[in-house]
Amino acid sequence: MTVTPMMAQYLDLKANYADALLFYRMGDFYEMFFDDAVAAAEALDIALTKRGKHEGADIPMCGVPVHAAEGYLLTLIRKGFRVAVCEQMESPAEAKKRGSKSVVKRDVVRLVTPGTLTEDSLLEARRHNYLAAFAEVRDAQALAWVDISTGAFHVMPLSDLRLGPELARLAPSELIVSESREPDLRETTQDFGIALTGLARSAFDSSGGEARLCTLFGVETLDAYGHFSRAEVSAMGAILQYLEITQKGKLPLLQPPQKEAEARTVQIDAATRRNLELTQALSGGRAGSLLSVIDRTVTAGGARLLERRLSSPSRVLDQVQNRLAGVAWCVEQTAQRDDMRDSLRKVPDLDRAMSRLSMERGGPRDLAAIRNGLTQAGLIHEALNVVSPPDLIADALGNMIGHNILIDHLDAALVAEPPLLARDGGFIAPNHDEELDEARQLRDEGRAVIARMQAEYVSNTGISSLKIKHNNVLGYFIETPATHAEKMLSAPLSETFIHRQTTANQVRFTTVELSEMETKILNAGSRALEIEKRIFEELCNAVLSTAAEIAQTAKALAELDLANALAKLAITENWVMPKVDSSRAFQITNGRHPVVEHALKSGAGEPFIANDCNLSADNTTANIWLLTGPNMAGKSTFLRQNAIIALLAQMGSFVPADAAHIGLISQLFSRVGASDDLARGRSTFMVEMVETAAILNQADDRALVILDEIGRGTATYDGLSIAWATLEHLHDMNKSRALFATHYHEMTALAGKLPGVENATVTVKEWEGDVIFLHEVRKGAADRSYGVQVAQLAGLPPQVIARARVVLDALEKGEREGGATQKTLIDDLPLFSATPVAPPPKQKTSEVETLLADILPDELTPRQALDALYKLKDAA
Ligand code: ADP
Repeated sequence: MTVTPMMAQYLDLKANYADALLFYRMGDFYEMFFDDAVAAAEALDIALTKRGKHEGADIPMCGVPVHAAEGYLLTLIRKGFRVAVCEQMESPAEAKKRGSKSVVKRDVVRLVTPGTLTEDSLLEARRHNYLAAFAEVRDAQALAWVDISTGAFHVMPLSDLRLGPELARLAPSELIVSESREPDLRETTQDFGIALTGLARSAFDSSGGEARLCTLFGVETLDAYGHFSRAEVSAMGAILQYLEITQKGKLPLLQPPQKEAEARTVQIDAATRRNLELTQALSGGRAGSLLSVIDRTVTAGGARLLERRLSSPSRVLDQVQNRLAGVAWCVEQTAQRDDMRDSLRKVPDLDRAMSRLSMERGGPRDLAAIRNGLTQAGLIHEALNVVSPPDLIADALGNMIGHNILIDHLDAALVAEPPLLARDGGFIAPNHDEELDEARQLRDEGRAVIARMQAEYVSNTGISSLKIKHNNVLGYFIETPATHAEKMLSAPLSETFIHRQTTANQVRFTTVELSEMETKILNAGSRALEIEKRIFEELCNAVLSTAAEIAQTAKALAELDLANALAKLAITENWVMPKVDSSRAFQITNGRHPVVEHALKSGAGEPFIANDCNLSADNTTANIWLLTGPNMAGKSTFLRQNAIIALLAQMGSFVPADAAHIGLISQLFSRVGASDDLARGRSTFMVEMVETAAILNQADDRALVILDEIGRGTATYDGLSIAWATLEHLHDMNKSRALFATHYHEMTALAGKLPGVENATVTVKEWEGDVIFLHEVRKGAADRSYGVQVAQLAGLPPQVIARARVVLDALEKGEREGGATQKTLIDDLPLFSATPVAPPPKQKTSEVETLLADILPDELTPRQALDALYKLKDAA
């Protein structure tokens, strides 16, 4: 069985990319074969065909046109595939020159994976696209991550235990681990929607990693960037190794690695992040998240910075105050603010343009993006040249200038709106390069040049019927009627005009000048293109040589955009600057939940009720609010809004309140809502307990803890006791500031027992048997739970509601009369006792009522109905 040379080449290439789909370039298509074709045809919903045979069987094939390949790539990546893109490395003509049977040389130029995208069309402009690597060296672990579309490169030490929370914070698209760790991390990464990639152990070798890092950054040792542990070097090295594999040696322009200390950002576990819907709504996606409600940024870089800050609020006081001062300054710039926004709006995505240029995937439009972005930065600097702005703004402004030479260079070279690709030329401005201008003139005005030449020859020869013509055999030639042959063929004209051909009526000539012109015209197009490409290269090099400065400017623009956007938000939504310090205060006046408020505003128009919260504590005590109140009163909203206010303050934003004083929090924990995690075979209660355990084991005296309805997933006794003990532990051991919502009224007794616990309740009003939610939080315990009324609102059948009221009355009566302890009270609850439920005392019913109860009107004949009526009359 022989294999065609092309198929042999295909199989050869494919062997190196077993776990990827191979996009095999054939002319204007990328073709896929065998299993790749079957999988891709299904994933892309395109036709599966066949081509030739292999080992006796048909070869399945499908293909996508090159010009539309990006869209298909995106679909495949989203569906979890990786794609190896194989290009033709020479033209078919070149292949033929090597031998008539030669196959065009092909090679894989790139392996496309979720974490290594750079194309705008494949990326979300307003989000980071991180590729992360987790490494272990002996007992130490580390996580490194990079966004190759912007060049950001970070690393941090990280225990195994913290991997989940950090992955939740960063939300990378792809995680690289050593092959041996792949199986046990699969579940976690799947939960977070992260593609998991196992690499051979050798990729994690720390000395190899160090060498790769030093080479990439052109340094002798990494010390210049700080001290890195071997685990950290291993993680960073693995990332570089993976980039080398996927990018085929074209490494992106990475910034030197920045070491992130765990202690610099508020520690937020994955469940809390999810529950507070910081960057993603519970339903998935950005809509409905806190991020979507507060985002007023106008640049892609600013949007990414906002997401980063919101995911990692700071716990470094200076940093928080610096950022707040920046926002406060923008709030004051009433005259400038909107102009500043308009200027920022014109700033293109500098980071991503730079990254593409560095990886030789850029085009003229990326150069224009650099030009426009830097120009805008200069203009903004000029407009804001004010006396002593705060440090954050002053630093940003300082980083926006210094690019004049590059701007002038790009300005002179590029047209105003260049095309996306360099391939077809047309992006270099006229009057920039003489040779190019000439080449283009020849190409575009070829005919006019020839026409001018013809006029010249007519006047030189005196033959007015002389013409310059073109055909495919001779190319350009000069033609005169045969009658002028003699004159043309003798001196002095014959010295200039070279005879080419004589036909019946015409004589044809050429001149040295004309054939030179012809060659020039024919070559002009490709020459113009070549010159443009050469200039493109030069411009790219000029841009890349100041990459570090441009990155600084991009960062400065993002910082200014964010400060300005947060100011805009504060003004339109009426937010205030929080006071953040190192005390243990937590005092919010008239706080609001931004997302619920936003939803109410765009809904029925019910106003959001603002509420105070005061958990301020001194250095030795905890302060915990124990919140009771019926369901639907607004307990969860209150809990969440206070956590959100703290996070907003520490990310450097104003907050939705009339006043806020927050002593830095270091950790935020929550246990809210109850959801089954059936995929892992854990019940609601189990999930709840696992999360509670994590909180009690980790929370310290700088933590903020919010606990909602602990213990509701189990029987009343168990639930109450667990909630009780949890609250005591938080108060005595953790000493955290906490909000604790519960429906166990019994717990309100704790307020009298523990000095740091106060009761608070969300008020409701009863009106004509209905309950009205006031959503007001005030000190004190709820008088009752209004569960029955809420059930009625929810539409439980009236009979059930009526019966429930009766049972409730009986229970409450028992409680009052017995005056019993908690325990005996609960023992007496008929619903929970093992003995049969004693029916509640029946009220006396009249005979008429008994008769009435027996009547089923739908089943009576008119005659029976009349009889029944008589019977009732008698009884009355
Ligand atoms: P609970 O946790 O007590 O069951 P929620 O916090 O889930 O109650 O709130 C129920 C609903 O009440 C929310 O969806 C919201 O629409 C409304 N709500 C809550 N708090 C407020 C408030 N402060 N002002 C106005 N409406 C509120």
